[in-house]
Formats: sequence, structure tokens, C-alpha cells
Amino acid sequence: MDFSSKLLENAVNEVSQLPGIGKRTALRLVLHLLKQPASQTAHLSQALLQMRNEINYCQHCHNISDTSICEICASPKRNERLICVVEDVRDVMAIENTGQFKGVYHVLGGKISPLEGIGPHNLHINTLVEKVSQGKADELIFALSSTMEGDTTNFYIFKQIEPYGITTSTIARGIAVGDELEYADEVTLGRSIVNRIPFENSLKNNY
Ligand SMILES: [Zn+2]
Repeated sequence: MDFSSKLLENAVNEVSQLPGIGKRTALRLVLHLLKQPASQTAHLSQALLQMRNEINYCQHCHNISDTSICEICASPKRNERLICVVEDVRDVMAIENTGQFKGVYHVLGGKISPLEGIGPHNLHINTLVEKVSQGKADELIFALSSTMEGDTTNFYIFKQIEPYGITTSTIARGIAVGDELEYADEVTLGRSIVNRIPFENSLKNNY
């Protein structure tokens, strides 16, 4: 792509670093911003910078939060002994939208994926095992997407916490295998979490 301006080229190169955005789309977005008042670009830049510099992660569940303890963990209405294990903030938002879950979350920050070089120690697994070993949980609900990486991660955690004998369950498979949680409709996702099944039963089906 030949640019008539180095400034334009720099902006397009930066925007095209985002996932799913090619050079053509980046150019379209940048040209759109140029047509808008300068204040819009200022607001966009400011919002991104502020998010990057000031964002916090909840000390209990590792979810993205503006405070050191997130609203869900801080709420007296939530059962902190019922912990739903999810990959990231998108899954928390998806399950919260169903209005069906009254426990708390534990956000792993990803899934075990040897191909991408993500091992158990790159994720918030230790703090989850700690909660269980300290007797702070009655039940873990595994709510990772039903992909090979999700199943591997579930199984790894299950083996770590098995000695403590707490209840483990996995969300019912109303969700199509291979689908990401965030794309499931609210009814399917809500039903899946109400009708969760013991994790051992899911092993019988899959292995
Ligand atoms: Zn939290």
C-alpha cells in the first residue's frame, strides 16, 4: 500500500495491529476519523490511554475492575463459596446477562494451550487452588468453552483440587461444541448454568 503521507501510514499501521483488522479496514477507520471533528479522536485516544493506564484486576477473582475488589466479589448477595471458573471478562459478562448465577467468578485469563505456549503457570490457577485448599469454596463450576483447550484446562484444575473433595460441576452442554461462550444466546447459556452436571459425568461422555 503506497501512502501519500507518513502520518497516515503510521496511523493505519497502528490500527491494523488490532485483531481482525486488515490494512484496508484500518485505512477506512482512519479516514473516517479524519472526517470527524478532532475532538472525537481526542476522546478515543483518551479513553484507550486511561483504560490502559488505570485498569485494575480484582484481587479475589482477577476480573477487570475499577476497584481492587470488583462489584460482584464485594456484593453481600453473592455466594462466595460457589465459584464459577471462566476464561475472561467476556464470559463473566455473558453469564451475568443471564441473571441466573448468584455465586462469584474466578477468571483464569486464558486456557492452557501448548501450541500458543500458554501453560498452567501463565494462568490464575494457583490462586484458585489456594482458595479451595484453604476451605473457601464449596463448589467449582467449570464454564470454559468446550474446546480441546477448555477441556484440558478443566481437567488440569480438577486434578489439582481433587484431593480436597469439594463438589465440581461443568455447565450443561446446551452450548454447541466448539462455540465460544460469548456468542451463546442468553436462554441457552442460562439453562446450561442451571442444569450443570458433575465434572466426572462430563469425563464419561468425552473420554
Ligand atoms: Zn472479583
